[in-house]
Amino acid sequence: MDDVQLQLLVDLHKSQSRQGPGGEAETKRAMELAGLDRSRHLKIADIGCGTGASTILLARELDAEMTAVDFLPEFLDELQARAKDHGVADRIVTLNGSMDALPFKEGQFDVIWSEGAVYNMGFEAGVSAWNRFLKPGGKLVVSEITWLSAARPAELQSHWETEYPEIDLASAKIGHLERHGYSPEAYFVLPVHCWLENYYRPMQSRLDAFLERHGWSGQAKAVVDAERLEMALYEKYRDYYSYGVYVAKKM
Ligand code: SAH
Repeated sequence: MDDVQLQLLVDLHKSQSRQGPGGEAETKRAMELAGLDRSRHLKIADIGCGTGASTILLARELDAEMTAVDFLPEFLDELQARAKDHGVADRIVTLNGSMDALPFKEGQFDVIWSEGAVYNMGFEAGVSAWNRFLKPGGKLVVSEITWLSAARPAELQSHWETEYPEIDLASAKIGHLERHGYSPEAYFVLPVHCWLENYYRPMQSRLDAFLERHGWSGQAKAVVDAERLEMALYEKYRDYYSYGVYVAKKM
């Protein structure tokens, strides 16, 4: 991806409330499944936080000291502005860095949270690298694109084999957790509204203004075409894949 393309993606996604499928109710459900509540002060890292949909909710719901990590400073600036609006800016520190080279100490966190982001380094590499930053008994909550059925239509299979070859069944993802120092505790599937109402439709409503802003350039059109293809595939094949939300305890 070149610089112009990256800046186009930042421009398209920065004003969205989230940069991937998810939802407040689902983040809260994962919190409950991980046994997180206000009874304890928690140190939490939110990795690949984007503009902070989950970071801000966790900061509001829990007694938490949040470290929000993303490699795009534009998203972190936006996160800070939103955190201020919600009155939780003093509970969040942002860190501009890459998820595959985190400067954390061993056992620094009670919780590692990551929604719709670990695919950037790959699920297995991510969960294995992040394990050492958790205290023993600490919780990992991570969402990851997941096949919902063992058999898939060929068109869908070949799309995702190119986009993210690590896409797999929940059983395979849970196996990675088991082999990399975790005890899996819960798994659920993000429902359709997390994709459509919360992510794709708000983006769809911004596409024309986005093209206008960028003079209908070839590169802007390519960004829009790719997003439209992804949305069309989701509408057609949504029974076959979603994000799985995985909750696991560090052994
Ligand atoms: N968790 C947010 C954002 C998900 S989109 C949400 O659910 O809304 C994925 C995020 O990962 C983006 O914000 C992107 O900038 C970030 N990202 C991609 N590669 C990264 C890397 N190598 N290190 C850190 N962040 C990365």
